[in-house]
Amino acid sequence: MTQIDLEGVGMTSRRTRNRLVARLRKAGIADERVLDAIASVPRHIFVDEALAHRAYEDSALPIGHGQTISQPYVVAAMTAAVLGKGSGNGGPRRVLEIGTGCGYQTAILATLVERVFTMERIGSLLERARDRLGALGIRNVRFRHADGNGGWREEAPFDAILVTAGATHVPDAVMEQVADGATLVMPVGNGDVQELKRLERMGDAWRQETLEHVRFVPMLRGVQA
Ligand code: SAH
Repeated sequence: MTQIDLEGVGMTSRRTRNRLVARLRKAGIADERVLDAIASVPRHIFVDEALAHRAYEDSALPIGHGQTISQPYVVAAMTAAVLGKGSGNGGPRRVLEIGTGCGYQTAILATLVERVFTMERIGSLLERARDRLGALGIRNVRFRHADGNGGWREEAPFDAILVTAGATHVPDAVMEQVADGATLVMPVGNGDVQELKRLERMGDAWRQETLEHVRFVPMLRGVQA
């Protein structure tokens, strides 16, 4: 198990996190539920110690295996898109995340919805994420080491699905696992830059909107240790 330092050197302070929240607010994030979650989850425990001093900057950082922890602004925008405009009762209860990475987005989601199901194709990243969320006392997350292209059939359908890796299109199996009236958020595009899409299922029809231009690592096939 990785040693996880929940204290850090002053970086955990509410003040540091509140500065990040203020920056996100200025950048256009208006959902108070999301801002509260960002204020409550220490981001520095999700990155290597050598980068911990940069954890509260609004930037993406490397997490090993050629992967990255998403920029806080993007995590906030995606989370707000998943929660939707309604507050309280109307929000999603069971959410699938594809691409656990370091688990930061997972932790943010877990503070806002009843249950999070998260999948990752790189086993060692998944295990570290599991340790971190355990250390934070987060208990409403289920982890799975698998290729997210197939979704998580046994637990489908979901009230929302969040994909944190980019692809040219949404995998069919993932589309099928979105409940009626539910939302799917995913970066879609050909190259390094994708469009963050929000799709809402209405029976057999889909309503689609483009939220932002984003830069995600590619969604790959198969699993690795
Ligand atoms: N939400 C993450 C972002 C991680 S980057 C965070 O906050 O840190 C995207 C992650 O998606 C990487 O860890 C990558 O390994 C994973 N990934 C890529 N293709 C995948 C697939 N087919 N199934 C599951 N995970 C995948």
